[in-house]
Amino acid sequence: ILANYPPTEELQALDAAYHLHPFTHANALAAKGPRVITSAKGVWLKDSDGEEIIDGMAGLWCVNIGYGRDELAEAAARQMKELPYYNTFFQTTHVPALMLAKKLAELAPDNMNQVFFASGGSDANDTNIRLVRTYWAEKGQPEREVIISRWNAYHGSTIGGASLGGMKGMHGQGSLPIPGIAFIDQPNWWAEGGDMTPEAFGLERARQLENKIKEIGPDKVGAFIAEPIQGAGGVIVPPDTYWPEIQRIVKKYGILLIADEVICGFGRTGNWFGSQTVGIEPDIMTIAKGLSSGYIPIGGSIVSDAVAAILRETEFNHGYTYSGHPVACAVALENLRILEEEGMVDNVRDVTAPYLREKWEALADHPLVGEAKIVGMMASIALTPDKSTRAVFAAEAGTAGFICRDRCFANNIIMRSVGDRMIISPPLSITCDEIDILIARARKSLDECYAQLKADDLLKVG
Ligand code: PLP
Repeated sequence: ILANYPPTEELQALDAAYHLHPFTHANALAAKGPRVITSAKGVWLKDSDGEEIIDGMAGLWCVNIGYGRDELAEAAARQMKELPYYNTFFQTTHVPALMLAKKLAELAPDNMNQVFFASGGSDANDTNIRLVRTYWAEKGQPEREVIISRWNAYHGSTIGGASLGGMKGMHGQGSLPIPGIAFIDQPNWWAEGGDMTPEAFGLERARQLENKIKEIGPDKVGAFIAEPIQGAGGVIVPPDTYWPEIQRIVKKYGILLIADEVICGFGRTGNWFGSQTVGIEPDIMTIAKGLSSGYIPIGGSIVSDAVAAILRETEFNHGYTYSGHPVACAVALENLRILEEEGMVDNVRDVTAPYLREKWEALADHPLVGEAKIVGMMASIALTPDKSTRAVFAAEAGTAGFICRDRCFANNIIMRSVGDRMIISPPLSITCDEIDILIARARKSLDECYAQLKADDLLKVG
């Protein structure tokens, strides 16, 4: 069935007839017809019409080693033949799960040596809610239930993940967040910094955490969760003052720090973990995506020795059929081997990320581009009708972003829009020559977007 598929229009009709897509207006997509991606190699996607598209998003921030690595397919096939499934509940373990846990302990900061597996990032964050609450209950402080997060954060799409996330559109789906989740504002200086310097703004946003802890009561707060660099919220790079102040505050009140490394982990920021890039010491790290480079679903939570010591004293009444799935663990191990042995993380830090930075920051000379921000292999630009005042468009927020995203797609480059920010997060395997292609297509798309905004009289300041 999969090898002899019908022509594009037929595939599109089948998709419209049978397939509901995530985060998509189904009828709008059916009306325009989705592109059907059929194969991929390196950083290049191919569609059913034979067009080649440069993938500026590494799928959904996950294909860190690039597409088409046979070693991962072979690792999966080997493991499926040997032991396709067994669980790790109650009384058994298996080699892929324990070997992957050991490898993650080696890669993680020195004090983080124990891993609980999930199937992706959302359910790993659900696990984190249970971990935090079990930890405090075991410590004799069960009232420390509250987890503080940030508005506009994305931590997944399950009930727990969407509750930890601060996306109001997702909360609007009914009775979210679950009880015991509170929010502070994100450190988005470009959009919200007003007249403050970035440094002063970073401190102000971090101190919202202290104010929130005092408001709720320090004896009721269990944890703070955040991505080291916020990804799906728009690649928001916080001012340098932000994270040191957050770290001071969580230490002062003894609350756990959860670093959601689902995007930032496994080389994306030029270190194995984003926590190392921003200089924080988390108690729990959420992992997924780059753990298997997206070749197979797997996620998890890496916990500190101090947290693990408490958790190990009780039965943890929580787990998934696919916690530590042997095939997923075998694929993840092979992925980590490639990342490590081919020096991909070092190459990002020393070669490709500095190269991309130079080219990306140069986009700030475009009339439509305000700030251009980048950390490692994740980057964003803010579209603006007037960069001198950091103005927003008079048209509905996101209109310019959608126009730009669609121009990119037509030019065979995948970039995402988040409101009126454009973002990229390419495979870590991207070469400098491919970065040149990516930037040339991004600039062409910006030119076309600018021309369209002008023609439609949308360059007005809001
Ligand atoms: N956390 C972060 C920071 C994410 O970006 C995502 C997904 O984009 C998730 C959690 C959820 O992961 P998943 O989609 O694997 O459930």
